[in-house]
Amino acid sequence: MVTRAEVLALDQADQLAGFRDRFVLDDGLIYLDGNSLGALPKHTAARVADVVSREWGRDLITSWNRNDWIGMPTRIGDKIGRLIGAAPGQVVCSDSTSINVFKLAAAALALRPGRRVVVSDRGNFPTDLYMIQGLAELTGGGVELRLVDETEVSAAITEEVACVMLTEVNYRTGWRHDMAAVTAATHAAGAISLWDLAHSAGAFPVALDAVGADLAVGCGYKYLNGGPGAPAFLYVAQRHQDSIRPPLSGWLGHDAPFAFDLGYRPAAGIQRNVCGTPPVLSMAALECGVDILLEADLDAIRAKSVALADLFHTLVEERLPGTFGIVSPRDAARRGSQVCLTHEAGYAIVQALIAARVIPDFRAPNILRFGLTPLYVRFGDVWDAVDRLVTIMETKTWQQPEFQVRAKVT
Ligand SMILES: *Cc1c(COP(=O)(O)O)cnc(C)c1O
Repeated sequence: MVTRAEVLALDQADQLAGFRDRFVLDDGLIYLDGNSLGALPKHTAARVADVVSREWGRDLITSWNRNDWIGMPTRIGDKIGRLIGAAPGQVVCSDSTSINVFKLAAAALALRPGRRVVVSDRGNFPTDLYMIQGLAELTGGGVELRLVDETEVSAAITEEVACVMLTEVNYRTGWRHDMAAVTAATHAAGAISLWDLAHSAGAFPVALDAVGADLAVGCGYKYLNGGPGAPAFLYVAQRHQDSIRPPLSGWLGHDAPFAFDLGYRPAAGIQRNVCGTPPVLSMAALECGVDILLEADLDAIRAKSVALADLFHTLVEERLPGTFGIVSPRDAARRGSQVCLTHEAGYAIVQALIAARVIPDFRAPNILRFGLTPLYVRFGDVWDAVDRLVTIMETKTWQQPEFQVRAKVT
């Protein structure tokens, strides 16, 4: 049996331990949902207040130049690029993940005229699939979404396929695709890869340039700690940038926005993928979260994430044998940064955990999801979370009526 003292020794030796103090976190609370909404960095509130009172309040519209508001999408994009293995000039911060999926999927289809199939897997996050369904309707059936099981993707990549659109890490189970292998298979069939990094960016090193990825999108409010509804990002590999025709051809993606020409002409490079005016306050908050990650070593983040997940799995097997199914992969190479258990009363058990000051989340139909964010989750937190789970299962407190009531957001 792993003891609490052994686990606390791991925190003593943890080179990332100092980062926890950079976040606003109540000491009695165990937060295991940073994969869904990252914690608040301590310097974000002051930075956003400064943008509001000084940059907006005093400098007013001159801030677009003076405080470089206009450069935020590319400046923050380049910073995010450093987290996902993208050289400068290939990432912009813009819109939401859903909208960026739409923009880049449409662009991918236009890059492969004569092909209309988009391959994805049944484990993908529904909004990604919905956006393709919307695109199919808009084009009067010019797009066919073909869904396969996640282990069957490579076999489905045939010469009919225009785009292979996958989320690297399955949001429900934590299962992780082999990005290099799938990208190679995609290129062998002459198709374009579109990766969703919602559960990758900031969670572990990603190597978009090195694997030869074509297109990617990702989320600002999960591991990047950008705040609720933070802007998202998108990546277009250099070699495709001048061939992309943005389907949402807004003025800030125009070659000369302040010429106010009546005709659309796309800007050079990545800038054409910006659509409208950036949400400055939200981008300022996101930049604070990204800056903290840039101070940390992503390999160290990954190593700690693997160790936290291994510890979590081991403790559940030792202390709750047979109580839960474990759907997150034991093999770290096939796993993102979360641990996922199954139980038919999963929703009520998650509510009982929240009442016991442990916050995971629930994903239908039966998954208890525990996100591991190494900048602020300690080994001791994992031990204590499992300990509180043991108590809840032994005392059956999850059976209380108040824990059965479904909220709108789970
Ligand atoms: C979280 C998540 C999203 C969220 O999209 P929004 O447009 O920000 O609501 C999209 N795709 C995946 C894979 C996600 O995990």
